[in-house]
Amino acid sequence: MQEISCKLLVIGGGPGGYVCAIRAGQLNIDTVLVEQNSLGGTCLNVGCIPSKALIHAADEFHRAVTHAATGGSMGITAGAPTLDFGETQAWKDGVVRRLTGGVGGLVKGAGVKVIEGTARFRDGKTVQVSGVTGEQLVRAEAVVIATGSEPVELPDLPFGGPVLSSTEALALPSVPERLVVVGAGYIGLEIGTAYAKLGSAVTVVEAEDRILPAYDADLGQPVAARLKALGVETLLRAKARRMRDGALLVETADGEERRLPADKVLVAVGRRPRTGGWGLEELALELEGPALRIDEQCRTAMRGVYAIGDVTGEPMLAHRAMAQGEMVAEVIAGARRAWDRRCIPAICFTDPEIVTAGLSAEAARAGGIEARTGTFPFRANGRALTTGRDDGWVRIVARADNDLVIGVQAVGEGVAELAAEFALALEMGATLEDLAGTIHPHPSRSEAVQEAALQTLGRGLHL
Ligand code: FAD
Ligand code: NAD
Repeated sequence: MQEISCKLLVIGGGPGGYVCAIRAGQLNIDTVLVEQNSLGGTCLNVGCIPSKALIHAADEFHRAVTHAATGGSMGITAGAPTLDFGETQAWKDGVVRRLTGGVGGLVKGAGVKVIEGTARFRDGKTVQVSGVTGEQLVRAEAVVIATGSEPVELPDLPFGGPVLSSTEALALPSVPERLVVVGAGYIGLEIGTAYAKLGSAVTVVEAEDRILPAYDADLGQPVAARLKALGVETLLRAKARRMRDGALLVETADGEERRLPADKVLVAVGRRPRTGGWGLEELALELEGPALRIDEQCRTAMRGVYAIGDVTGEPMLAHRAMAQGEMVAEVIAGARRAWDRRCIPAICFTDPEIVTAGLSAEAARAGGIEARTGTFPFRANGRALTTGRDDGWVRIVARADNDLVIGVQAVGEGVAELAAEFALALEMGATLEDLAGTIHPHPSRSEAVQEAALQTLGRGLHL
């Protein structure tokens, strides 16, 4: 068996692993990156990027359909649009290829050696890689585990046939006539809404008493209203049971059994850290629930073994994985770095979009912080009115004692692009006066942020 040695071995080429490898290469650390599938991981290949491409294509199609159907509320009329879904998929795959190819170039440019294969620990410093070109043994001074996560399967509704995980749902050759989505979280609602806009009859089955139960209830309201307008049926407090004769059997909130005929069933009930398949049992690592336990430098319980990204648990977001990857490379290079981020913003690409950064008012109260809040609705924002979508709002949460901004939430079309302003405000320790005193260009949705700050200070101008 061929043997190689390096200073750093990174297992997994997703956003966590490839960013870690690039930064390590820049720091002149002799680095090897092992990936068993395609560079870019879940995010670029079967997650963030293909889902956002599908969502965008669905928006474009739906807009054209709406113009054709209404005779043009803005004076625009369009002929009945047609959809070649094969072309849509080919376009989406092209976007993915461009990005994954780009990652390959960046990693190579940083001097990182990439091995295609599956890594398995023999001990904390030795990893066996099984690849197309045979077996290799890699000895490393430090190892970063960045193996990501995988979809959770329901025991009575295993993936296969009509029952899909997000991976298959993003790669369908045609738009299903009847799609049932189990789980009204990030994935279920993002992909479910896209297919509803592409023409599927969509039913969403959610175990909790509202959609997006991880978010504040009022953030989900504009999304629930839009789902209704799109004709999506939502069954709450409902339990998906199993498939029978081309239908999903569901136990509804009142205990009745309902049969939901379905061409496809997307099961999106969460993801779990990928802790299997790479030899966890050979190591003395500690777990925290289903995830690898790490400290503020992403160190595991074993010296020289680090873990980053989804394998370390919630929040399972690409930008968190990347930030951890960059930090760990520097820690391994000897820099004094530790996780000191004030917030990890989250965006849900529903219709309308949702953004959260920092604390909600409820979370602040639960943490014993006296907070005050101000909300500004997009119906009072000029830019929102000019786009024909004025649903949603921006809310700021600030400490009552010193006006420090501790949280921002928003729901509305296009608010994803406001997320970085929220994060920057929190990282820089902005106060309400800082946000209120920053000139926000007119007309833009960002003015709602300034107005929400003014509103919190009790001197709103446009409401
Ligand atoms: P991953 O991206 O999962 O990468 C892990 C890599 O490790 C994989 O490529 C895998 O093949 C490889 N690997 C595993 N085991 C081995 C082994 N033994 N040997 C070699 N290689 C191995 N996040 C966002 O922030 N924004 C979004 O909009 C968003 N949308 C999403 C949409 C969907 C449908 C899904 C499923 C996820 C989405 N996410 C989103 C989550 C995001 O994809 C993950 O948080 C992110 O990919 C985590 O990065 P990672 O590097 O930890 O792991
Ligand atoms: P999720 O945790 O967001 O939502 C799962 C939903 O399924 C919850 O509402 C839950 O109550 C429900 N549920 C659980 N068991 C159920 C059952 N038996 N029957 C009916 N409903 C049930 O999980 P997800 O949507 O699968 O996404 C997984 C992860 O992927 C997310 O937590 C996130 O980290 C990541 N992701 C992020 C983005 C983004 O950043 N925009 C997009 C997609 C995925």
